[in-house]
Amino acid sequence: MKNPACAVVLKQGREASVARRHPWLFSGAIQRVNGSPCMGETVSVMASDGNVLAFGAYSPHSQIRVRIWTFEMKEIGPAFLRSRLECAIEARNNIRVASRTDSYRLVNAESDGLPGLIVDKYGAFVVCQFLSAGAEYWRNEIAAQINGLVWNRGIYERSDTDSRTKEGLDSRVGVISGEEPPEFLETLEGECRFLVDIRRGHKTGYYLDQRENRLAVSRYVWGREVLNCFSYTGGFGVWALKGEAKTVTNIDTSKEALELASRNVALNHLDTARLANIEGDVFKVLRAYRDTGRGFDAIILDPPKFAGTRADIEKAARGYKDINLLAFKLLRQDGLLFTFSCSGLLKPELFQKIVADAALDAGKNVQIIKRMGQAEDHPTALNFPEGTYLKGLACLVCG
Ligand code: SAH
Repeated sequence: MKNPACAVVLKQGREASVARRHPWLFSGAIQRVNGSPCMGETVSVMASDGNVLAFGAYSPHSQIRVRIWTFEMKEIGPAFLRSRLECAIEARNNIRVASRTDSYRLVNAESDGLPGLIVDKYGAFVVCQFLSAGAEYWRNEIAAQINGLVWNRGIYERSDTDSRTKEGLDSRVGVISGEEPPEFLETLEGECRFLVDIRRGHKTGYYLDQRENRLAVSRYVWGREVLNCFSYTGGFGVWALKGEAKTVTNIDTSKEALELASRNVALNHLDTARLANIEGDVFKVLRAYRDTGRGFDAIILDPPKFAGTRADIEKAARGYKDINLLAFKLLRQDGLLFTFSCSGLLKPELFQKIVADAALDAGKNVQIIKRMGQAEDHPTALNFPEGTYLKGLACLVCG
């Protein structure tokens, strides 16, 4: 094999994370760089004694200076990328995710051994995000390999996230190959259908990571008045109506998302008379409900990421406490709260404590009846615990 021309050499005693096969190498662990690697170029990772430990992608602008592709003596190129993509696709076959939905994540970045690469499949369309210098470097090769491995009508790029900025990359959106996706693509999630806007929707169009939790919610809400906070296009709301909720009220700041939420209810032949959409700020709407004494039998809280950096954690914690406290106040006796946090930096123990504090302040006796997380097609590699970000608690108010 051809060795990379450039290398990063670790400081003495800083091999531990590489030895544990963690895919990130922070700038502080690096003693020096041999050569002048360009953005995304493959470099060798060397111990201070010159021993080659890994190969990774160099990212000059990020604190994560190298994202490791492999800890084995393998050349990074078309054959390597193809084999990693094949493994990721095979893993989805092994968990039979396609038997439950036509839209799911094919590649989950670091956890599938492809740092910075997200590949989601929506029916016949594939959506890619190249979020790191290394993924960007190999963009055309990766897209070509996906075309060979996954039958599709079109591959679309949604490399328009904040994380690209940290890597020093501009955003890029558009067709990579094949057809342009339709304005709204009809997808199938279990027994429900959803319209997805691949080109302009959040993330790659839809929150695939909440799939299992939407199904779980539908099992508990029969006959209940449900409040779906941060509803986006109404995923939880549709599933709640499917589970024969008495009513569903969606709240979101996005008018477009709520319009799609109404269309999604109609698409599933569910009773639109049982649906209300409120365009507004959840924090304000919940306060208004509290002040007017409006109650609910089930509340879903699925806010956007409150903590993007470590510095945000405290403020984020106050935000989570606030909405959970308000939700407990609005819940009637025997009410259910489905509460989520997708901030990876906020650990599950802290999240549970915040929810516990909220229940205490609301004067409610609460049990956790179910713990929830991201769907199975968003796996976490054991050498990359940072891959776990979504956590949820289903809580029952007992008194
Ligand atoms: N539960 C959804 C995903 C929610 S994403 C699903 O399963 O598909 C978070 C949503 O919160 C986004 O649609 C965003 O528009 C909305 N949002 C963000 N801040 C908000 C606020 N303060 N009040 C209401 N909605 C908000």
